[in-house]
Amino acid sequence: MKILAVGLNYESHNIEMKRTFSSSEPVIFMKPESAQLKDGKPFFIPDFTSEVHYETEIVVKINRLGKHIAEGFAHRYYNEITVGIDFTARDLQRNLKEKGLPWELAKGFDHSAAIGKFILKQDFADIQNINFHLDINSETVQHGNTRDMIYSIDKIISYVSKFFTLKIGDLIFTGTPAGVGPVEIDDHLEGYIEDLKLLDFNVK
Ligand code: MG
Repeated sequence: MKILAVGLNYESHNIEMKRTFSSSEPVIFMKPESAQLKDGKPFFIPDFTSEVHYETEIVVKINRLGKHIAEGFAHRYYNEITVGIDFTARDLQRNLKEKGLPWELAKGFDHSAAIGKFILKQDFADIQNINFHLDINSETVQHGNTRDMIYSIDKIISYVSKFFTLKIGDLIFTGTPAGVGPVEIDDHLEGYIEDLKLLDFNVK
């Protein structure tokens, strides 16, 4: 399986990141399968960074094989969603960006893709109007609503499938709203969609 991710998909986050370029198409990157962190296992801060940020995101699981998927059919290609954390070694990412180099080391390292328990999308009347948030040590540190995505889930699926064949089990991280920040050893992270806690793990 592969993990696709969208960068800069919420205007509020783009402002906080002081984004200096504009793009008329989604910003896409990938994480390898080894980036997955599941089942409430702890996240260990790697020794190559001193600034790991959480990015709370809605994650979609692909359930059909697809290539060149039309936006109007994209909703048929996923059935389950969850909340996840796109862990980012922000210091490393900054260094790579300054040199114009790819982000992979800062975004794709082991266990950089924390994934909650999946739930059925049919539980929601409108997939583009879902609240999600992250609590750290019982305080809400980041919240968003999928209505604020620049590129909708269906648009993202359609776009990435022009380049990559989507396979059953592939995951798509759909971007983070404003409010990213660092995690520290002993932090307790809890991720929610609406009032459902789907993600619950510790930083070590
Ligand atoms: Mg992200």
